[in-house]
This record gives sequence, structure tokens and C-alpha cells, in this order.
Amino acid sequence: MDNCIFCGIADGKIPSRKLYEDDEVLAFHDIRPIAPVHFLIIPKLHVASLYDCNHSHQPVLGKIMALSGQLAREQGAQDGFRCIINTGRVGRQEVYHLHVHIIGGPDVLPGMLVRK
Ligand code: 5GP
Ligand code: ZN
Repeated sequence: MDNCIFCGIADGKIPSRKLYEDDEVLAFHDIRPIAPVHFLIIPKLHVASLYDCNHSHQPVLGKIMALSGQLAREQGAQDGFRCIINTGRVGRQEVYHLHVHIIGGPDVLPGMLVRK
């Protein structure tokens, strides 16, 4: 996909700090981390968001989820972490290439959403 930052990262045209790669997925550190552990896992094939997924994406989504715990542990999130997939305008998605944020570290994360 032209003009997609994460496609550029997936095919090596845009540099990133990679921590895992295979034929289908790539994990790399977020450029603006919000926690001591903050990396992204993406499918290499472009899909814009969860809204655009169908049954054909099940294997790669399953692989991403199945990798998340192992990679989080390896990166130092030993006592828990959070997976976040921001989707669409309300979900405050900024990059429209599906990605899972893995966020953790030694401190306790804030509650899932702040109650008003
Ligand atoms: P979103 O709000 O779409 O879920 O989050 C996009 C994330 O991608 C942000 O946390 C942002 O810091 C990260 N990001 C944006 N551009 C780049 C980039 O060029 N390289 C890396 N490594 N991360 C990026
Ligand atoms: Zn893309």
C-alpha cells in the first residue's frame, strides 16, 4: 500500500527497531513509547483496521495474539501487559495499518478507561 508508514516499515523502506519478524508479522518498538515496554505487532500485508478484517485475516490475527505474551516477556513485561487495538475515529486510530500495541513494564497500568 503506497503512503502507508507501516507497509514501509514492513518492507524495510522505513527503518524501525525490530524485535520479531517472520513471513507474516513484524514486531517493532513504538517510536513514541508511553511505557517502558511499548511495541507494536503488525500483519505484513496491509489491512487498514479491525473494520476491514474478515475470515481471511483470522490466521494472522491469531498469530499476533499468540506471539504477544512471549514477546512481552522477552521485552521485560514479566508481570502483565495490555494489548490495545485502536480502531477508527472513536478509537483514536492514527495509523491506518492494523497494529496491536503491547504496553507494559514494572509499573501498574492505569485503569482501562477513566470513569467520569
Ligand atoms: P494508533 O493511535 O494508530 O493506535 O497508534 C499509532 C502508533 O504508531 C503511535 O503510538 C505512534 O507513536 C506509532 N508510530 C507512528 N509512526 C511511527 C513510525 O514511523 N515508527 C514507529 N516505530 N512507530 C510509529
Ligand atoms: Zn500498510
